[in-house]
Amino acid sequence: MGVVLYHRRTRGAGLIYIVEDEPAVRDLILYTLNTAGLEAKAFGDGKAFWSAMSEKIPALIMLDIMLPGEDGFSLLKRLRGSKKTERLPVIMLTARGGEYDKVLGLESGADDYLVKPVGMMELVARAKALLRRVRPEKDDETLMFKDICVNIPGHSVTVGEQEVSLTLKEFDLLVYLLKKENTVFSREQLLKDVWGFDYMGETRTVDTHILTLRGKLRSAGELIKTVRGLGYKIGDGA
Ligand code: CA
Repeated sequence: MGVVLYHRRTRGAGLIYIVEDEPAVRDLILYTLNTAGLEAKAFGDGKAFWSAMSEKIPALIMLDIMLPGEDGFSLLKRLRGSKKTERLPVIMLTARGGEYDKVLGLESGADDYLVKPVGMMELVARAKALLRRVRPEKDDETLMFKDICVNIPGHSVTVGEQEVSLTLKEFDLLVYLLKKENTVFSREQLLKDVWGFDYMGETRTVDTHILTLRGKLRSAGELIKTVRGLGYKIGDGA
């Protein structure tokens, strides 16, 4: 299990994650999407999928239903239950029969479904349709401060000319601070707003993320200021 294959053909067309435990089906889907110029990563189970999700959220997800460990319906439910992914387009891959009926009974929350064996032309057409639907919203949402440039929809960060690779939480934290530069936020507030109400962590979590974020931003890391007794801000000056 784990991350199985990783192909990269085109950039910016919208990353697709696939969760499918049958290697033959998985490889065929990956091959088809790549051939159509779409960037995709495939995982054999939910565990590998969530691990990838914690690093980068894709533009589209395809979920098989019968999987080892957590099944496709459960994955979908968790995606819909989180603010960050509640509107992420999801295509369910289903066999005919009981699970097919369940997908059709819309309460599953899927945006679309494909019945296995999946027709490859159809797969590409459906994927592209959903990617088009989500893309027009805010294509150029960019935050800039000094040398730091954040492209929010593209989930990319550069310092000067250099690309910086951040985890999802580091990225969210940076965006949060950048949206209100020179405003001081307490650790409690950052924890609440960036990690969410239901997060059971400690404020120390904020400190460790600030530390790694500063390190990754290299020279621009010093723009994240510790305000003694209060918290953190991004800005110039003391
Ligand atoms: Ca399966």
